[in-house]
Amino acid sequence: MPYCAAEFRKTPCSIHVVRPRKRLLGTYKPRTLEITLNANLGPSRFVFTFLHELAHHRINRDFWKQGERVAAHGAEWRHYFRELLWPLTRPDFPAFSEDYKEILYRYLPNIRASIPQNSPLYNYFMQEEIALGLKKAPESGPAEVVGLPALAEVPVGSTFTFRQKNYRKLKNRRSFALCEELSSKKNYLIRLYVGVQVEEVPKG
Ligand SMILES: [Zn+2]
Repeated sequence: MPYCAAEFRKTPCSIHVVRPRKRLLGTYKPRTLEITLNANLGPSRFVFTFLHELAHHRINRDFWKQGERVAAHGAEWRHYFRELLWPLTRPDFPAFSEDYKEILYRYLPNIRASIPQNSPLYNYFMQEEIALGLKKAPESGPAEVVGLPALAEVPVGSTFTFRQKNYRKLKNRRSFALCEELSSKKNYLIRLYVGVQVEEVPKG
């Protein structure tokens, strides 16, 4: 991707794509100036993780190497990572879907060292990797789909149960529906083909 290549050239280091590790997606070693990235990341998460590690590389160059001690995932790192991520959210950035840009844009104010499980960004990455066959769907099986209407067929505004949680369908996207989880009021993207238990359909 030209954007990543250009950012990389500003602050080069070595990059290794490695056998997937369970608990790590990527690493940066300040002593050897080395980035490692898991080989089984989907394109969105691969770029995201690369930029996460590149931000570490720049922290090393601008702070640690100057003898300044700043936290690995502190305010300075968050600033660098945000600066690297925001161009991806621009409408004219060619590589990513509008869904992803929107999710990423909303994530920018809340950058953290790791992505919280079941957050919109987490779900987007997982769904992309599952769709590409890079990861297996968690505890998914025909049981979830058989006999239940697909989320695609459920009218917008309906409430439904999916994996023991209650949601309201807000709108359809290309292959997902934006849904609100009713107890947390948080929004999630759920694939349109999953089977769901419909609770209530809006009248009129
Ligand atoms: Zn990190």
